[in-house]
Amino acid sequence: MKGRVFSGARPTGRQHIGNYLGAIQNYVSLQDDYECIYCAVDIHALTSLEDTDKLQENIGEMMLDWLAAGLDPERSILFVQSHVPQVMELHTLLSMVTPLSWLTRVATFKEKARMQPDNINYGLVGYPVLMTADIILYKADTVPVGEDQLPHLELAREIVRRFHNLFGPTFPEPQAKLTSTPLILGLDGVNKMSKSYNNHIELAASPEETRERVMAAFTDPARRYRSDPGHPEGCNVYRLHGFYNPERLEELATECRAAGIGCVDCKELLARGINQALQPFRERRAIVAARPGYVEEVLADGARRACVIATETLREVKGKMGLI
Ligand code: SF4
Repeated sequence: MKGRVFSGARPTGRQHIGNYLGAIQNYVSLQDDYECIYCAVDIHALTSLEDTDKLQENIGEMMLDWLAAGLDPERSILFVQSHVPQVMELHTLLSMVTPLSWLTRVATFKEKARMQPDNINYGLVGYPVLMTADIILYKADTVPVGEDQLPHLELAREIVRRFHNLFGPTFPEPQAKLTSTPLILGLDGVNKMSKSYNNHIELAASPEETRERVMAAFTDPARRYRSDPGHPEGCNVYRLHGFYNPERLEELATECRAAGIGCVDCKELLARGINQALQPFRERRAIVAARPGYVEEVLADGARRACVIATETLREVKGKMGLI
């Protein structure tokens, strides 16, 4: 029997190449070996209460990108977190078995509390409980994560173990499936690629927009003149060539070190590589976007299928907790 994967992503609207290289391409390939459940976690997006007026648009844009990238609604369940409200019920039940001290020690809670001191809401501290509910409501046994998310998954496993100690075995203890892609830095070469740093390239950007963004990217600061030898190992344009022009990496490093190629030409080459790689994605996206109501249909069908699993799990949990 196939294992079951669950992963959720905040609906941040149009996805960028960092999202693709870091998560989406992995989501797509997991479909071959697992039963996959992928979710836009709109409730999690409310912890900061930012851009709530754009939430629906952001969900639609993200789903268009996921579908165009190869997530297949025939093989995977694609849905929106709040469309299966049982997750909130399970969250409340799990909150009864989760010691508060486990939550207040979470590093990301402390960081978020520092970032939004005027809105340290319950949702921030309860975030790992909701995340646990997301995973175990569907009895997922596998969660694709980067190294930085391992502590969150470990906390989810602790909550599961505590539930089991109190009420008996109920859920699979979710295992991490580490993604191998390293952190994708943005065009500033310093921060993780992110819309909030405006250092990203959207998958759906036009070839011209993509070129403009790449041409504005930071390179090796030691190369002030075309004749200065460069240090490709410290240049993010070079790192991105690793994904989009892997066959030319060695040659580019040699030319950069010998000042045989200038940064302008090197970036032109990268922009061409990215545009070539994204061309099929962009064509598929245009086809999906031209089907009115298609994304909504996919999400409604996903929610229906997710709901069947959720209802069954919740009945079992309530029975064990003495509620029915
Ligand atoms: Fe970076 Fe390319 Fe310029 Fe070298 S030539 S510093 S790899 S952009």
